[in-house]
Amino acid sequence: MSLFGRDSSRAEDRFEAWLKRMHQERVLAGETEPAGPCPDEAFLRGVARRSKRIPLSDPRIDHAASCANCMNRILAIRQGVHSRRRKLALGLAGACLLVIVGFAAWTQYEVRHRQILVAAAPVSRTVDLWNTGTNRGEQPKQLQSVMLPAAPVRLTIILPRFSSEGQYLVAVTRDQSGNGVVAEGLATAGAVNGQEKVSVDLDLRSAMAGTYFLSTTHEQDQAAYYYPLQIK
Ligand SMILES: [Zn+2]
Repeated sequence: MSLFGRDSSRAEDRFEAWLKRMHQERVLAGETEPAGPCPDEAFLRGVARRSKRIPLSDPRIDHAASCANCMNRILAIRQGVHSRRRKLALGLAGACLLVIVGFAAWTQYEVRHRQILVAAAPVSRTVDLWNTGTNRGEQPKQLQSVMLPAAPVRLTIILPRFSSEGQYLVAVTRDQSGNGVVAEGLATAGAVNGQEKVSVDLDLRSAMAGTYFLSTTHEQDQAAYYYPLQIK
């Protein structure tokens, strides 16, 4: 369609709308003479909804088109239909929004939950003290420096050769005298492939980076052994 054609059809639409409005105003002002009695509500509803079952030749249409009462009723019904549609559309939009917000909240919860799980999952570290052989009551001669992260750590210690079975207190301390305990845990040592191993959960999240000591104390002999430890 040419630009001219489109413009002219738009002008026609405007003219028709104007005619309709003028006619409506005249009818509503009671300036027209309707022929015949007012049709029933069902018929007016049909007209308002532009029902295809009502033929334009129906004389009741001529009446409604020139009766102020019927015109008012039709306009009211149409407005009701429109506002119901608007309400429905608003309701649908609201429901969509609710679904979107709900989904966003759920996703956020999932992400947060997963982050918490990741944050709470301890880091596994193994410290091998097997060759830091000690005689009872002596401090290890060859110190092995251990590196641990400032995080929840599941620490597995391979105890020095000749270590006894039983319960051990494992601690991270500030000094070699056992002062300034950062974290500690009790665990029972068990032999794995001829080596005594002990596993404890140590929460080192509050530890500042620096030099510490890892100590192991057997429940019975109470002798504590300290190993240099770095927390990063
Ligand atoms: Zn009427």
